[in-house]
Amino acid sequence: RAKGQGGGGYVLFDRGMHEEALRRLDLELDMRRALEKDQFEAYYQPIMRVADGRLMGFEALVRWNHPERGLIPPAEFIPLAEENGLIVHIGRWMLGEACAQMRRWQRAFPRRPALTVSVNLSARQLLHPEILPEIRRILRETGLSARHLKLEITESAMLEDAERAIELLEALKRTRLQLMLDDFGTGYSSLSYLHRLPIDALKVDRSFVMHMHERVEDRSFVETIVNLAHTLGRSVVCEGVELPEQEALLRELGVEYAQGYLYSRPVTAAQAEMLIIDDAVHAGRRR
Ligand code: C2E
Ligand code: MG
Ligand code: MG
Ligand code: MG
Repeated sequence: RAKGQGGGGYVLFDRGMHEEALRRLDLELDMRRALEKDQFEAYYQPIMRVADGRLMGFEALVRWNHPERGLIPPAEFIPLAEENGLIVHIGRWMLGEACAQMRRWQRAFPRRPALTVSVNLSARQLLHPEILPEIRRILRETGLSARHLKLEITESAMLEDAERAIELLEALKRTRLQLMLDDFGTGYSSLSYLHRLPIDALKVDRSFVMHMHERVEDRSFVETIVNLAHTLGRSVVCEGVELPEQEALLRELGVEYAQGYLYSRPVTAAQAEMLIIDDAVHAGRRR
């Protein structure tokens, strides 16, 4: 009960609400220390080229190795980190970590076509006044070339202040990195707005890919997005590809890149390195 009964006027939380509030507070305190204690870890999920099945790069996805609670997925702490501002620090760490890792891989595998790394950027990070110098510094310090870094931004991140967001994206583009519009289809962007965004690719949300092999409407929806993207000169990445039937449809539709459990779940850096080696072996065999 959130309200006192009758004339008392005091507020009574029920046990569930109380426990939830404590849990959140706990998590928030732990999160503040997690960075110093090095408890965050970058996982990597491969992104494949649909036409020939080659590995093109990875999306870096944060995990929290909590000493008592185990591996916590981003859905359970990123929203909280966005509210309390810690996302700026976590995000900065992820960018540095992912860029450094990708540069190490590029050095370790100099003969394969250069891989790219995609990093998610939340609205708070994008609108942070230091974002541009931060990114430039990270690229300089890690030695990763800007064209091998992709930033994933959601439509909702741009709703708050669209004009400012567009200016920022244009400034980011001038550093020559690539911009992806993440979770596309779940937001509200209008056509004219989409046209103005200096993005390189649309990432079609998993919720549309999931049923495209069994529901004509979903299939038409993906087809429409692909046509739209190609009309605007953008490429398409489909996320959440789990079945060969889905992959076959993407190939038919001319989708450039795919990501999903069909290829691999997000894995540790050490496991990702095995995927890079596998890809080289397969590419060698195809030749
Ligand atoms: P996202 O950027 O859309 O990332 C894709 C999510 O879909 C990942 O979940 C990935 O594990 C999952 N996924 C990929 N393929 C499949 C599939 O075939 N089947 C299913 N069921 N799921 C698949 P994850 O790693 O739990 O991340 C969730 C979200 O958390 C991300 O969605 C992103 O919005 C956010 N996130 C993750 N890392 C970061 C980060 O470093 N910074 C920020 N700001 N957000 C992050
Ligand atoms: Mg993403
Ligand atoms: Mg996504
Ligand atoms: Mg998504």
